[in-house]
Amino acid sequence: MTLTVAQLSESELLARIFPRLHAGSSMLLGPGDDSAIIAAADGRTVISIDTQVQDKDFRLLWPNGGTSSGFDVGWKAAAQNLSDINAMGAVATAMVVSLTLPGTTPVGWVEDFADGLSAAIVGLGAPQCSVAGGDLSGGSELVVTVAVTGSLDGLAPVLRSGAQAGDQIAVCGNMGFAAAGWALHESSILPSTHSPALATAAALFSRPEPPLSAGPVAARAGATAMMDISDGLLRDATRLAAASGVTLDLDGAVLRGVARALEDCAVVLDADPLTWVLTGGEDHGLLSTFPEGASLPDGFIRIGSVLSLDVAGLAVTIDGQNFKGASDGAVGWDHFAV
Ligand SMILES: [Mg+2]
Repeated sequence: MTLTVAQLSESELLARIFPRLHAGSSMLLGPGDDSAIIAAADGRTVISIDTQVQDKDFRLLWPNGGTSSGFDVGWKAAAQNLSDINAMGAVATAMVVSLTLPGTTPVGWVEDFADGLSAAIVGLGAPQCSVAGGDLSGGSELVVTVAVTGSLDGLAPVLRSGAQAGDQIAVCGNMGFAAAGWALHESSILPSTHSPALATAAALFSRPEPPLSAGPVAARAGATAMMDISDGLLRDATRLAAASGVTLDLDGAVLRGVARALEDCAVVLDADPLTWVLTGGEDHGLLSTFPEGASLPDGFIRIGSVLSLDVAGLAVTIDGQNFKGASDGAVGWDHFAV
């Protein structure tokens, strides 16, 4: 019979979790006291928080029979929080985790979750970040909340509001893969039949790989504005444009080139790969602007130019043209299709 969390006391469950939590160099006092203590040498602390609710933000069982394991949910929770620190140009220092668990949750799921959290921290290149502690509670549904702190290490933060007319627009990281993986999970295509391309998309949906060293590198290279792409390029570009009071004009040919990497998946799923690139969230790539003439750091590709808002009167354009529905992410692609 599977051991469930209802069969253990809180301290018994914590005793199984603590040894699995990654301890990075920033941790001065780890879990077990009333609070943990994290070094903050910079004098400023970057902080962010994110909550995922079962069957709203993630599923354990997907329509195509695929599953998300505790490891996957832990990895994803860590990845998206680390990405928000990265997007400021900062380096993560610590995480605290709150888990609300139905009593029927297998203890193995919770252990797997802790392993996924720690594996993402190390695997994605943030080994200095510690899981410093957290909280356990019972409830009718599984809820995962992660708060993360970071250090700017002497750099100025890169905000969404700094883009200027004349800047280059650039992205770094995967684009559209998580959206392809999500479409696959929602399809009737059994995991056992996945081609390598489909398997890659499914894996990147379950365990996204944000480019965690790229944020501080972009900050040092003079990025004028930055955010991570968590809700889709068009939606997030609209937010950055609004914060900066500019128009972001995207280059359709470059984006079609980016979408080519998803063509194999798109054929099988009868989908448009460009729509995944433009509207797919959860890859947690970086959207950044750099001064014209600045050489882009490794891994960044130029996808457009920042225009004065007066030119187009729109937050985001593609090849200088409007397209339907960009503000709500439901893109009518007819205008751009060639
Ligand atoms: Mg973000």
